[in-house]
Formats: sequence, structure tokens, C-alpha cells
Amino acid sequence: MKQIRNIAIFIPHLGCPFRCCFCQQQKISDTMHYPSPAQVKESIEAALHTISSDTDVEVAFFGGTFTSIPEKMQNDYLECARPYLENEQIKGIRISTRPDAIDKDRLRELERRGVTTIELGVQSLDEEVLRLSGRGYEPEQVVEACRMIHNTSIRLGIQLMVGLPGDDLHRDLETTRQSIELAPDMVRIYPTLVIKGTELEQAYREGRYLPMTLEEAVEVTAAMYVRFRRADIPVIRMGLHPSEELQQSDTVVAGPFHPAFGELVLQKVALEQARFLLKAYLPTAASNQALILFCPPREYSQLVGPQRSNISILKREFGLDALDVNSDPGLQPGSIGVGNYQGMMAVLPREQYLQSIE
Ligand code: SF4
Repeated sequence: MKQIRNIAIFIPHLGCPFRCCFCQQQKISDTMHYPSPAQVKESIEAALHTISSDTDVEVAFFGGTFTSIPEKMQNDYLECARPYLENEQIKGIRISTRPDAIDKDRLRELERRGVTTIELGVQSLDEEVLRLSGRGYEPEQVVEACRMIHNTSIRLGIQLMVGLPGDDLHRDLETTRQSIELAPDMVRIYPTLVIKGTELEQAYREGRYLPMTLEEAVEVTAAMYVRFRRADIPVIRMGLHPSEELQQSDTVVAGPFHPAFGELVLQKVALEQARFLLKAYLPTAASNQALILFCPPREYSQLVGPQRSNISILKREFGLDALDVNSDPGLQPGSIGVGNYQGMMAVLPREQYLQSIE
């Protein structure tokens, strides 16, 4: 399957019924104002020049509640993409919206006008987390919104957040379990950040909100990632895109921001998989003093971890004198092998590891 590339058009807070406590779209997207239809066309034209013709492209309206903006404006935006749909330069249109902002008639109209993917800002399926975060809808409304989208040809994306007020690991895993039951075509997971100018900043400064540490956020996101992948649901993004504005020193007041958050999560998953493999392998090994882990070349940095921390952790935990990592182009993506200088003795494919997770 070809990669889908989005031409992102940001419409910061357009259509939003109110500002959610954690949200500051201007800073997240580096975009101060929503564009006119003419500017949308210009952005599409400019982006198409940079994208190779063998990539599937969607025009994506992000950063607001698309289905709550005035209907004429929705249609004007969708019309901007129509010529590119008709000449097949783009494959579809993607919008993001809230679960309580869609109904059957609107969905039918969106489908007719070329919308192929809807990303729902679900954030959590825990009643209390939704209430404490002031989202303004109940979990049942999310379930109903997903059901309605599944009754169309439109693909469903779900956006989730970890570390919201009232959230914890148990609630995140329960949200993950319920989200899998909703059968989304894709998922994004974002750690909650305290962004300047939000209600959450106020709560944080008054001691009413404590953000997750980076380590906690990586751990819970990794636990969610492996469960979605076991269910064969793609996780298309973990962590906010590190826009210039977001990386400025005073934009993120507190919280687990890291410009390569998703990579940290994949490194954590690789660590857990290697740990599982070594636990199974070591009792059968002739000598456990000097071992080699093997992985596909493109996954080398995931396996060794940041500053080779995965290797140090595994060496210490398993009492090894030496633990090297070799890349092996013959390994399937996600596989980790173990052996010694004579060669690879055992392999743990990612699918097999995912099945072992409780
Ligand atoms: S989280 Fe979504 S609904 Fe809430 S303010 Fe941000 S863009 Fe609008």
C-alpha cells in the first residue's frame, strides 16, 4: 500500500464551540489565522509541486472543528480541493472534528463532496477524564459518532491523548481497549502538554494539574501502541509535530514534550521486545556472557535506544559482560534476533511479541 501524504491546511480553532483546556492551535500549528479559499488553493498548488506523483495525497483540514464551521464555508473549502480530485492529483480530503459535531446528513454531504477520512478528536473514553478536561461530550457520543462514520465509505481516524486531568495508566489502557472495539482505520496518540495561554497552564501554575514526566508518557504511549498494533490498527503519529513555535523556549510551559517523541516510544517498544527475547533465550544459551542482538538495518537506532541506554539496561539486568547490536538485512521489519559471534540463534518477530502482551 502506498504512503498517504497530507497537504495540511490549518484552520486554527475554526468551528470549535469553545477552547479546550489544553489546546492552543496557533502555537501547535504555527498558524495564526485560518486561510481564505484562495489561499487554500495556493497551498495545494505549492505542495503538489513538492510531492512525487507516485504518492497518494489527501488535502487535510486540521486544527479546528470542521463540521461545525458554517456550512457555506465548509463547502467553499471542500470545493477548493475538487479540481485536484477530479484530475486525480489528490486521492481524497481529510478533516478533523469533534465526536459531538457530526450527524448523518452532514456525513452524507461530506462523502458526496469527496471527504475520504475523518479524524475524530476523541482524546479519552473515560467519563471522568472527559468531564475533568471539559470536553463536553460523553463516551457514548464517541461510540455513536464512530458507528455513523463506519456506515459511510469514509475512513475513521481516532486521536487520543494521555495525561489529561484525571487520567492514569489504567484509564489509558481501558480507553485503548474500547478504541480497538471501535475499529478505527488509524490512531494518533498525543501526550498532554501545558501550553502557554491555556486553561491548563493556569491549573498547572495553581498546583491543580500535574503533567506526566517524559518517561511516564513514553511508557503509557508504548503500552497503547503495542495494543493497537496487535489489533492491526496503524498508529500514524505519536507526539505533536515539533513546529518552530512549539520548540520556542516559553511555548511549552511544562509536560512531556520531545521533538522525536514517537521515536522514543519505538525505542521503548524495542527495549521491551529485546527483554522478552533475552528472558526466553538466556536459559537455553551455552554462555550468556557476550551476546549479540540483531535487527533490520533501519531499526538499529530503535534497538540501541537513546545514548545506547537500551543496551546498558539490558546488560545490567541480565548480568552480561558484553552486548553488541548487529544489523541484519535478512530480518523482517520489527524482528529482533539474538546470538553470538557464531551467528544468530533465535529470532522474535514483532507479531509474536505482540501476541505475548497481556
Ligand atoms: S481540542 Fe479540538 S475542539 Fe478543542 S479547541 Fe482544540 S481544535 Fe477545538
